[in-house]
Formats: sequence, structure tokens, C-alpha cells
Amino acid sequence: MAIIAAEKELLVYENMGVRFDRAASKLGLDKGFQHVLRTPTKEITIYIPVVMDNGAIEVFVGYRVQHSLVRGPGKGGIRFSPDVTLDEIRALASWMTWKCAVVNIPFGGAKGGVICDPEKLSRRELEAITRRYTAELLADLGPERDVPAPDLGTDEQVMAWVMDTYSMHVRQATTAVVTGKPIELGGSRGRREATGRGCLIACDRALRKLGRKRTQQHVVIQGFGNVGSVTTKLMHEAGYKIVGVSDVHGGLYNPKGIDVPKLLEHVQQAQQVPGLAGCDAVGADEVLYLECDILVPAALENQITEENAPRIKAKIIGEAANGPTTQEAADLLFQRGCLILPDTYLNAGGVTVSYFEWVKNLSHVRFGRMEKRFEQGAYLRLLGAVEKVTGKHFTDAEMSEIARGASEEDLVNSGLEETMVTAYQQLIDIREVHQREITLRTAAFINAIDKIAASYEHLGIFP
Ligand code: NAD
Repeated sequence: MAIIAAEKELLVYENMGVRFDRAASKLGLDKGFQHVLRTPTKEITIYIPVVMDNGAIEVFVGYRVQHSLVRGPGKGGIRFSPDVTLDEIRALASWMTWKCAVVNIPFGGAKGGVICDPEKLSRRELEAITRRYTAELLADLGPERDVPAPDLGTDEQVMAWVMDTYSMHVRQATTAVVTGKPIELGGSRGRREATGRGCLIACDRALRKLGRKRTQQHVVIQGFGNVGSVTTKLMHEAGYKIVGVSDVHGGLYNPKGIDVPKLLEHVQQAQQVPGLAGCDAVGADEVLYLECDILVPAALENQITEENAPRIKAKIIGEAANGPTTQEAADLLFQRGCLILPDTYLNAGGVTVSYFEWVKNLSHVRFGRMEKRFEQGAYLRLLGAVEKVTGKHFTDAEMSEIARGASEEDLVNSGLEETMVTAYQQLIDIREVHQREITLRTAAFINAIDKIAASYEHLGIFP
């Protein structure tokens, strides 16, 4: 079913502005200052000529928007999609500002995109677009200026091309210029799973507050890319029942629970979600309306609108995608008692682990490298002392399981959990201060705006 909505409702930057204004009015900020916080710092348009494989020359249009650089370098993905617009990139850049502040990491917000369809481009054409886009942005990117990451239509390989192009121009290998890189180039273990893992941690926190159990939750996930597939896998392993999934080709439904390991195998082979035996076939958009407790839109923005919100049955919506719910739809769902875990918090796991990757690249040492063996030795000595005092012996398997020093992935996952849990509590506390009359989204905006405003208090407005 096509999603019909008022044109204005679908303007993502406008939507962000409405959300910003609500929160800013609660903080009683000066109107002029609100204008400063809301407005991007810089918007760059790039025209990218590429000699295509057939010899024809095409000119692609790309953007990079830096919304705020007050709390640190810009941070935000690069999106390759035919639907990229400046309005969308502007909104996504500002979302990154709020998101980084919500999870308290020292980045500002930025976002980039190129209007192109990666599915219709050869690897060589994609590389040419990426390298020319990066070269044109040379003065604005950098470990202390603006640090891109993957987003829709881009991946580790694209990040490797960005890093190499930047490095060639500055004449030194600069791993910290992008995150979401291959491990071999300084990427972080746990980064690929980070956004999905963050979704799981956030859903767990919400259930804890509501006094509900994972095993009683029926979950539907829209989108089966990086975020959707990892969220499906991790939620299934944690005990949630996945009853519906979809990708752009269509959806699957099984009220008794989809066999997730089989689904992952099927998608690996078929390269699409539809076609798994033992499930009912449903339309790509129809999954949104399935009977479930938790709905995770993990595909695109503007999926839940004023027009289709009344058909949503979920009691909790975990916004894994950026901007999947329009403000009008969110208001309707709030009135109906639906809890929305907002994108500015829920999908912040990716940027949090990107932050760990950036810190590792700047310090040139992998997390855990210095202490892993030392920790292991200390635990072994402790266990030896316990054996001596009790006269009992641990098996070799018990010894190696308990006396294990933390690996990079252990530390990254631990840092991610700490970040997501702390941020959730801050949102709950802010909502309490406002007598629960505000949504978690408004609480997230209040939290972020407050932190950025505090930085401005000390810095002032330049010059
Ligand atoms: P991706 O390109 O890997 O996957 C997108 C998925 O959505 C694909 O499975 C595609 O088939 C599906 N899809 C597209 N249109 C659909 C439709 N109409 N119905 C159902 N499925 C549809 O992208 P991703 O990295 O997983 O990102 C998904 C969303 O999450 C985006 O909004 C992105 O901005 C956001 N996000 C991603 C990350 C990250 O770490 N990758 C972090 C934060 C937020």
C-alpha cells in the first residue's frame, strides 16, 4: 500500500524543526538563540563528473551538511540513494547533533549524500563517485573537522575509499577520518552490530521500566539491511519472538515466531526476505500493520504517517531508522498510549561505537591490547587463591571462562551498554521532571539542546 501523507508532513527538516521547537519552548530559550541552534553551520553542494563504464560522462550531485561543530568534529554518514535531497541531508545532519549529545559523545552533527542508485552502478563507477566526492570535500573533512560513516547505500568499502582518498591528499594514512571501516584499516570490532545491539539494549530498558518480559514480546522489523538484520538476530537470541520482517521486496509473517537462523541463511542465499518456507507472504509496507508488541522500523524515514498511523497495532515503536515516524503520526500514537523509543536515542548505538573507533584510531592502540593478558593473570591468581582457601578445584574450562581478559569487542559492547543505559535513564528523569506530559522524543531533544546550550554559555557566539 502506498503511503499517502500531506506533502508538508513528509519534509523531514520541517519535521525536525517542529520537534526542536517543542523542546526549546520547554527550556525557555531566547528566540534568536533557538534560531542559532536550529540552523546548520555549513551546507556544501558538489557536482561529481564521472566517466561511466559505457564511456558516457554523467554528473552526480552530492551534499555535505555540517549542522553543529560546537561539541566536537562533525559526525554523520554518507548516503548513496536516488532519493537523496538537500532537505533530507539537512535534517539528518541536525539529528546527528542531537543524537551525539543525547549519548554524550564529543561530536557535532553532519551528514552527506550523493543522488545515485548504487544498485545500478558498477564497483568502478561507485569508487569514482566516492573518491571525487571526498576530494571535493578535502578542506572540510578530517579527524578533528568532520568524520563520515556508512549509511544507506554505503558500506565498509566506501569508507575505505574515503579514507584512502583523504590519506593520499594529506600524504599520511589517516584512519580517524572515517568510521565504519574494515577491521584491517582500523575499524572497530562490534561496529557492524552496534546499531542493532543498541536497539536491543534500548528495548530491554523500556521493558524493564514497564515490568514486561522479553519472551512475551512479539516483534516486527521493517527493513533487513545492516540495522534490521542485526536487530532481528540479536533480539531473537535474547528471547524476543520475531513474528514479522520485511525488505524492499516484500515481507514475511508467522505469528508463532519466525525461525530466525533459517531466515538469515535464506537471505544470505536469496538476497531478499520473501520466499522463506513456513511463513505467510505480506507486502513490504503491510508488515507495519501486523499484530505485535514491538514494531522496529529499520528502513527509511516517513514510514508511519498521519494517514497510516491508525492501522499500527504495536504498543512500542523502536525507531531504528532515522525519522520513520512523522510528527503528526507520533502525536496520534502518543494519544493512543503507544511508547515511541525515538531515533535520536534508539539508533545511537552506531555512532557510539563509531566514537570508540575514532578514539582507537587517534590513540593508535586497540582497546584491550594493553590490559587483556594482565587481567587474565590477575583472575588466574585470584582463582588460585580461592582454590587454596576452599580446597576445591576449578576445571580447565571453568578457569579459562572465568579468567578471560576483556577483548576489544567485550570492551566496545560494554561501553555501548553503559552509554545506552545511562542515556535512557536521563530521558526518563527528564520526562519525570515534566510530570510525564512529554514524550521520550521531546525529552531527548530537551537533553540534547540543554547540553549544546551549556557549551554556548561558555563559548559565546563567535566573533
Ligand atoms: P541498509 O541499506 O543496509 O538497509 C535498508 C533496508 O531497508 C534494506 O533491507 C531494504 O531492502 C529495506 N527497505 C527499503 N525500503 C523498504 C520498504 N519500503 N519496506 C521495507 N523495507 C525496505 O541501511 P541500514 O544501514 O540498515 O539503515 C537503515 C536505517 O537505519 C536508515 O534510516 C539509516 O539512516 C538508519 N541508521 C543506520 C545506522 C547504521 O549503523 N547503519 C545507524 C543509525 C541509523
